[in-house]
Amino acid sequence: MESVEEHLQEHGIKPTSVRILVWREIAEVSETFTLNDVERWMPNMDRSSIFRALRLFTEHHLLHEIDDGTGHQKYCVCRCTDSQHLNHIHFTCLNCGQTYCLEDYNIPMVDLPEGFDMQEAEYIIKGVCPRCR
Ligand SMILES: [Zn+2]
Ligand SMILES: [Zn+2]
Ligand SMILES: [Zn+2]
Repeated sequence: MESVEEHLQEHGIKPTSVRILVWREIAEVSETFTLNDVERWMPNMDRSSIFRALRLFTEHHLLHEIDDGTGHQKYCVCRCTDSQHLNHIHFTCLNCGQTYCLEDYNIPMVDLPEGFDMQEAEYIIKGVCPRCR
């Protein structure tokens, strides 16, 4: 098992103590989370430090960012097995607002017109989750 320090360094991130603590807190989370969630999990950590760490992790492809229309920026831990870092499908429950990672479901590829080069894709399905049925 590689250490948190090594994991961050491998992704081009200098492993400061704040970043290590934040990463430890979120690394095992299997659903999407918001800045507010992390703030709640780490009551002793300053909100802007958490925010900066999440931004940095996103820039360095350790996290995916999801805009599910709820008005809260959500994140999930990148577990991409290929280097392309294309996001998986997310499912937002219209009842409870939870956004689930459907990690086994890849975003369908689209043939883009000549000259358009895809960098990122977001695919969100909305409906009712099993817990709310
Ligand atoms: Zn990824
Ligand atoms: Zn629900
Ligand atoms: Zn996800």
